[in-house]
Amino acid sequence: MSESLSPAERLRYSRHLLIPSIGEAGQMRLKNSSVLLIGTGALGSPAALYLAAAGVGRIGLVDADVVDATNLQRQILHGESWIGKPKLESAVARLREVNPHVELVPYTTRFTPANAMEIAASYDVLVDGSDNFPTRFLTNDTAFFLRKPLVYGAIHRFEGQAGVFAPHLGGPCYRCLLPEMPAPGSVPSCQEAGVLGVLPGIIGSIQAMETLKLLLGIGTVPLGKLTAYDALHSSFRTIKLNRDPSCRLCGDSPQIHDVSNLETLASITCSTPNSAMPSITTTELRTLLSGNFQGLLIDVREPHEHAMCSIEGARLIPLGTLKNHLAELPKDTEIYIHCKSGMRSGRAVEFLLDQGFTRVSNVTGGIDAWLAET
Ligand SMILES: [Zn+2]
Repeated sequence: MSESLSPAERLRYSRHLLIPSIGEAGQMRLKNSSVLLIGTGALGSPAALYLAAAGVGRIGLVDADVVDATNLQRQILHGESWIGKPKLESAVARLREVNPHVELVPYTTRFTPANAMEIAASYDVLVDGSDNFPTRFLTNDTAFFLRKPLVYGAIHRFEGQAGVFAPHLGGPCYRCLLPEMPAPGSVPSCQEAGVLGVLPGIIGSIQAMETLKLLLGIGTVPLGKLTAYDALHSSFRTIKLNRDPSCRLCGDSPQIHDVSNLETLASITCSTPNSAMPSITTTELRTLLSGNFQGLLIDVREPHEHAMCSIEGARLIPLGTLKNHLAELPKDTEIYIHCKSGMRSGRAVEFLLDQGFTRVSNVTGGIDAWLAET
């Protein structure tokens, strides 16, 4: 732990030192604090730049991606000469240039249920700069179990939101806002929907500001409040958000007891579908079912989807409940899993493989492909 600022640091941070509620004591607080940034993309870029410039002593950065030309329209940490190279190498080089007095800790990995708690444990605040729901849920759960504030941000085309989730200080968690993870493909990602390049600059900067306030202990923490920005109509709104007593994580009767629940396990597979996964086509499935079928066909969609249309003989076990049925599933029988389009069933197959099942296959294309054939 540092006891004082060097003359170079005093000069660098002089505009902070002039503010009475920060001063040298506040700057020392920043120097002795730490922030973990999950993602160094659109939101992570401005957040990382400002947090490093402000003098946060130790900044952890988690990202396994490589810089792509399509990133540069909004991910201002990265530049032309880094295309094709790891984002973390680019981020560290840029942030060192911004402020050599801060310690940068790169984690060139995806943030997964297997490493999340260990990586996050030594940081004061978690900043969510992720671009997908599994990582966002995982970040929320990790922050909850470690009792650390999570600074949240999300963007979509011309609109963004930012806020702080810290149930241990009061207020809701992210799952109170969004109880169930949207099914893969049901909500367009940034990649599919687009985003105006300045927007993450604004939302990521709000995240950096809330992080500095938390570390400095100044102002009020916006617990139970989200700031929503609408760029097209130039408006900021405050959305009130209450803790949900039935929240599966922070509610009165929690059902989630660690980060390795099935939804967050998907963070490993969601954006990197495993091409080596055992699978069969719907045509092959039809042939099997028309013969002397001895296997087990499982539908992992939700009950309302199953009620609308189903494949005869399929047993309904919604993905979220699969882990409760492990004991009933035979390990010596071929198991075929389908959903709507093959994403959720792919996660189910990976999960069962992890659990020691060997005779399990994904039905490629799901019931959509099945219906398209008839
Ligand atoms: Zn909650």
